Amino acid sequence: MGKIGLYGGSFNPPHLGHGLAVQEMRRQLGLDRVILIPAATPPHKPLADGSPDARTRLELLRLMFQDVDGVEVDDLELQRQGPSYTVDTVREMRRRFPNDELYLLMGTDMFLAFDQWYAPDEICRRVSLVTVHRSEDSAAVCRQLAEQAERLRRDYGASVTILDNRFLATSSTEARRMLRFRCAETYLAPQVLAYIEAHHLYGVGEDWKNLPFAQLRKASLSLHDPKRVPHVIGCCETAARLARRWGADEALAARAGILHDVTKALSKSAQLLLCEKYGIMTTTFERENYKLLHARTGAAVARDIFGESEPVYQAIYWHTTGRADMGLLEKLLYLADYMEPHRAFDGVETLRNLAETDLDGALLCGFQMSIDLLESEGKALDRYTVEARDYLLHERNKA
Ligand code: FE
Ligand code: FE
Repeated sequence: MGKIGLYGGSFNPPHLGHGLAVQEMRRQLGLDRVILIPAATPPHKPLADGSPDARTRLELLRLMFQDVDGVEVDDLELQRQGPSYTVDTVREMRRRFPNDELYLLMGTDMFLAFDQWYAPDEICRRVSLVTVHRSEDSAAVCRQLAEQAERLRRDYGASVTILDNRFLATSSTEARRMLRFRCAETYLAPQVLAYIEAHHLYGVGEDWKNLPFAQLRKASLSLHDPKRVPHVIGCCETAARLARRWGADEALAARAGILHDVTKALSKSAQLLLCEKYGIMTTTFERENYKLLHARTGAAVARDIFGESEPVYQAIYWHTTGRADMGLLEKLLYLADYMEPHRAFDGVETLRNLAETDLDGALLCGFQMSIDLLESEGKALDRYTVEARDYLLHERNKA
């Protein structure tokens, strides 16, 4: 009797995190082999726009694991018509391996939604369930996982194992973003990357420079976390409106607005890779608060990948901190980001009113609010914001 792991997923694309996950699960569970089963049409989550078809994802997976002993890739879900139901796969595997122990491996999202799957009771009768919790998961997520495991044991008599994830935290979504930023070497096996490049998958090789606005908007929004999209659109529209009000270039303001947070969804390791690629020096403080880096990596991507002009680059570069003696577009983007319609905090209405009548007054108010907030939270002040405020105060006194 052997132990076999069944690992399904969209593998869109398969990345090194999958490779490490497979090795680690084999080790922790003592599996003799792992069968990878790419899903044709995942029923739980539609694939991202522009994803390659199932046959291509299968080919990538085969390339990735071609030399790894004890790992096979199976196309059984691709041979079925319609959506892939796990219960059908589990039935087939049970038929093929009647005397082996079967373990169904899945991510935490899938595990937490397990009750909504088709025929969960039958799946639990036929296989053991395994999920992983990532080291960065919060205590709340760990508790949710433990509660779900308890419920599945009670309701379906399930056998459940929760593994510690000591493997690389990465995701296919991030690998796709980094492919777009031409910086995916550390995410993918070399033969997988070579295939993606040769076949122009995931938009690799497409020229994104100087796109007309509608295409730029679509490309940019595809790189964001969906939760952030309303903010980005709000910021873009506000920047364009302020440009009209203050006589700046409306088209440039809209382009800066739609791109300003284009790298915000990236993890710390991805931010640092982009910093390395673009020669952006970072301080210890910035590495600890890596979200701050998105202004600089976003500016670099806007220039390098999207071919944007110097004013757009500068506006994005300074959009979170401001600086002394800002250009008009920089000022407008800073304010648009601060006061777009989805922002709700004490003082935002003051900011919105000032932005219509007294641009520098609005900026001064924004800088001061940022400084006050950091001070009240006991955090280090950003030196550029302090300089920006002091510069405007000095200018006002002179006048
Ligand atoms: Fe931002
Ligand atoms: Fe923003």
